[in-house]
Amino acid sequence: MQFRDLGLSAPLLRAIEQTGYETPTPIQREAIPPAIAGRDVLGCAQTGTGKTAAFALPLLQRLDASAGDEPKLRALVLTPTRELAIQIGDSFTTYGKGLDLWHTVIFGGVNEKPQIAELRDGVDALIATPGRLLDLMNQGHVKLADVEIFVLDEADRMLDMGFLPDVKRVIAKLPRERQTLFFSATMPPDIRALADSLLRDPVSVAV
Ligand code: AMP
Repeated sequence: MQFRDLGLSAPLLRAIEQTGYETPTPIQREAIPPAIAGRDVLGCAQTGTGKTAAFALPLLQRLDASAGDEPKLRALVLTPTRELAIQIGDSFTTYGKGLDLWHTVIFGGVNEKPQIAELRDGVDALIATPGRLLDLMNQGHVKLADVEIFVLDEADRMLDMGFLPDVKRVIAKLPRERQTLFFSATMPPDIRALADSLLRDPVSVAV
C-alpha cells in the first residue's frame, strides 16, 4: 500500500514525497484512512513507528478541508515533553507547508510572552504540554471552545510523569462534540479507563 491509497490530499502527498517517505508505516496505513473520515482512533504505538505522521496528516487534511479566512483554534495536540512538542511542531511545518494553516507550540520552562504573542496572532492548531497550556488557559490566552480534533500523545508517559490531573483539567474544557486521536505505547488500567472515557466507537490500531 502507498501513501496515495490512504485518501490524502495532493498538497500532503507532495509534502510526503519531498520528505522522502516511500511507503506508509503500519500505524499510518491503519490510522490515516479512518482519521481522515473523522473516526476516533485508539493507537497503541511507540515513538519511532511513525505515529506523529499518523495523526498529523489526517489532522492537517481535515483542518484544511474546512478552513475559514481567519485561523481559529480547531485542533489541540497534548504531549508530555518539550522535546516531543517541538518535534510535532516541526512535523506540522513539514507536512503542512502547502496548506494555509497556522500552528504554534507551547511548553513550560521558558518565557511565556512569545508564546502568548503567537497565540494572539491566531492559530488553527496548538501543540502543547499540559502544565503550560493550563497556565495560559487560566490567564485567558487560550480558549478550547472551537476545538474539533483532540490528540492525546503518549498518554502512558503523561501518567508516569504525573500529568494526568492536568490532562483531565484540559479535557474538561474541550467540546464534547469532537474527534479524538489517542496514542499510548502501553495500556495500563488508568490509561485504558481514560481512553474509554474519551473515545467514541474508536478504531483500534496496535503496532
Ligand atoms: P515517530 O514515530 O512519529 O516519532 O516517527 C519516527 C521517525 O520516522 C521520524 O523521524 C519520521 O520522520 C520517520 N517517518 C515517519 N513516517 C515515515 C515513513 N512512512 N517512511 C519513512 N520514515 C518515516
